[in-house]
Amino acid sequence: VPALTTFLAAAGEALLALASPPRCASCDARVSGNTVFCPPCARSVERAPRESDGVFLWGGALAKAIARFKYEDATHLARPLSELLRHARTRDFAPAPTLVVPVPLHPRRLAERGFNQAALLARPLARDLGAALALHVLVRTKDTARQAALERSARLVNLEGAFRARRRLDGHHVLLVDDVCTTGATLRACAGELTRVGATVRNLVLAVSL
Ligand SMILES: [Zn+2]
Repeated sequence: VPALTTFLAAAGEALLALASPPRCASCDARVSGNTVFCPPCARSVERAPRESDGVFLWGGALAKAIARFKYEDATHLARPLSELLRHARTRDFAPAPTLVVPVPLHPRRLAERGFNQAALLARPLARDLGAALALHVLVRTKDTARQAALERSARLVNLEGAFRARRRLDGHHVLLVDDVCTTGATLRACAGELTRVGATVRNLVLAVSL
């Protein structure tokens, strides 16, 4: 009986795999192979300029996929979205990152959402780069998202002292990862704190609005 149970479980898994073919991260259309977006959606995704911190420009199918990922609990999109990040110019990174640090969420926000989208994106990237994923080295001490809602403008939010490093990082080359960058203020605040504790910092953001 255990053998039969095992067999049925395996068959069930195979069926489940058949039942969930790859789909476009934005519109859910069936896609072939390892592509993240269907062809029409892919045409709406633009590369960011090389000198920017971003891999792609914010907008189109990518913006929709990120919104689904963050706000509609579509955590299965972590894998295809991190694929996009992984194929960024990581081979050009010199010196090679020793630590990958996702921009942290405030603990209250993390509890609400249940996951940190930047951390989900950063994990496969760290593995690829052979760098350590540092999830707790940087903490967010101000709930700026809540402040932004109160101020009705993210631009008015004061990020000074919003992030705190928990230890020295002398000699470390940090790759700071986030999903979206609009004003760059968050990245600057994080990088400032990481630099203060001795690290060199380089940013990598999936979608940047310029
Ligand atoms: Zn699509």
